[in-house]
Amino acid sequence: MTASSGQLIVLVGPAGSGKTTLAHRLIAKDPLGRGFSVSHTTRAIRSNEIDGKDYHFIDRANFEHLIASGDFVEWATVHGNYYGTSRASIVEHVSAGRELFFDIDIQGAFHLFEQFSEQTRLVFIVPPSWQVLVSRLTARGTETTATLRRRLQTARKELEGLLNSALPWQIVVNDVLEEAIGDLDQATRTAKIELKHRALLEQMLQAAQADARAAS
Ligand code: 5GP
Repeated sequence: MTASSGQLIVLVGPAGSGKTTLAHRLIAKDPLGRGFSVSHTTRAIRSNEIDGKDYHFIDRANFEHLIASGDFVEWATVHGNYYGTSRASIVEHVSAGRELFFDIDIQGAFHLFEQFSEQTRLVFIVPPSWQVLVSRLTARGTETTATLRRRLQTARKELEGLLNSALPWQIVVNDVLEEAIGDLDQATRTAKIELKHRALLEQMLQAAQADARAAS
């Protein structure tokens, strides 16, 4: 498949960075020109989610069948569950010249970039500091100690992956939501630039590593 027009806006960032909210706020500004890529997953549906809108929820056997038949442009195992992006969901939007927003993990972002580098904008969303991320996740009240630890560990690995990546990432710091929406809007229009906010990212990674050492 070739994605001949349209843009793929790939948002990566830790749980608690606000990437889903940011994507939906930008889409709401231009619902005809923008859309959200609805992934398939084997994870259990949460009470606030809608099948077909947040994800296509399917079982492992079906997911493995879709992998085997080549329906996914990328798929990954995240926290023990399968997640994948179907070819069909991309084709529909991109051939119509729309911007398609993705909320996927960093492995998925690398795979999409490999296949559609010309059309893909990679955006990493970060909270203003590691401490803010930890307090946002704790304040949600939905995390157990184990899931909190796992999410923070994933966040640390993604920060490491970002800092070691040679790809053209844009960085959006989500401190004040309205400002972050403007920054993301801008980032979707800006071509490749050097990694912004490197000092902040390095500081966050050091705090994450210190937390991981303290917890082990
Ligand atoms: P959650 O279960 O909290 O909705 O998502 C867990 C993680 O899976 C998040 O980092 C999310 O970005 C990632 N994810 C969601 N859909 C996809 C997908 O289609 N492909 C990949 N590679 N990751 C995904």
